[in-house]
Amino acid sequence: MTRAYNFNAGPAAIPLEVLQQAQEQFVDYQGAGMSIMEMSHRSTFYEQVNNETQDLMRELFQIPENYHVLLLQGGASTQFAMLPMNLLTPGKVGAYVQTGAWADKAIKEAKVIGEMAVAASTASDSFMRVPRLDEIVVPENAAYLHVTSNETIGGTQFHEFPDTGSVPLISDMSSDILSRPVDIGKFGLIYAGAQKNLGPSGVTVVIIRDDLAADSPKSIPAMLRYDTHAKAKSLYNTPPSFSVFMMKLVLQWIKGKGGVAQLDQLNRDKTGLIYDAIDGSGGFYKGCAHTDSRSIMNVTFRMANEELEKLFVKQSEAEGFVGLKGHRDVGGLRASTYNAVTLESCQALAQFMKEFQQKNG
Ligand code: PMP
Repeated sequence: MTRAYNFNAGPAAIPLEVLQQAQEQFVDYQGAGMSIMEMSHRSTFYEQVNNETQDLMRELFQIPENYHVLLLQGGASTQFAMLPMNLLTPGKVGAYVQTGAWADKAIKEAKVIGEMAVAASTASDSFMRVPRLDEIVVPENAAYLHVTSNETIGGTQFHEFPDTGSVPLISDMSSDILSRPVDIGKFGLIYAGAQKNLGPSGVTVVIIRDDLAADSPKSIPAMLRYDTHAKAKSLYNTPPSFSVFMMKLVLQWIKGKGGVAQLDQLNRDKTGLIYDAIDGSGGFYKGCAHTDSRSIMNVTFRMANEELEKLFVKQSEAEGFVGLKGHRDVGGLRASTYNAVTLESCQALAQFMKEFQQKNG
């Protein structure tokens, strides 16, 4: 079997070992005579999966005791709405750092629910950088400050987070959760769809400080309230049991790799190879993000013209690379190097880039 060099932006690569483990357990889960997908979510088997997944998340991401780990559905896109529904109370504003396409989506939903303020924006730099911390102005009546820690499309990433004092700091970490250590205590709430760093799509992780999950406004329906899911330990209704099971296997794999600090180093080494190929190309490849805002998850770059970019994609596909075409909204090229993307894949890509340049430069 040949595995593709998978640089997809999400859904994305899942460790081969995890896929094989899932395959082994697929038909008969722990001698139960059925798969995990066929079991009651109230069974001891599934309860264990639910608990272990939350515990592993806590352990690997060093989540303090006073936070809940929620396993929800609806993707990060539902969190764009659920966050202001729960936390944007009358008289307050939801403050947002506008860094690109995903921050914009979060902003759009906040406006549906209540008052929104832009605390900083890098639109004038075409979102090719994140703001410096001293550019972020949090309004006095802010209910929270929302940042997108990693902009998947633009390829920018926060390398430090603002200190927001008593105002809860919220982050969409969909595309960089568990890729590096984070001081969770700085945040009120973190959310992420699983389909990049945590496993398959279908489950959305919300890490929420206890006080923010204590009592949601009465007007919100049960499924959209953080307190519902916190009280029910994410078993209020039928969970995406297979996705959670897969996420558990991915978390065990991360633990086996030595944890998040080790992955952080590996991720830097991986993207380092690709950024080096860009920076050493004498301008043949041009990195999109400003150097100090570069993402260690999504490397975005361009070439002299679209014809050359198309040729790059076509030839890369012939060599077994998948997912190198940039997002349709911005064009160009993008290599997503999430946790499960191997160093070998990145070495192969850096080599391919050099050879492509030799032939076409
Ligand atoms: N935020 C970011 C940073 C993303 O990359 C994505 C998905 N690419 C989303 C939100 C939306 O996630 P979902 O499709 O799970 O709703």
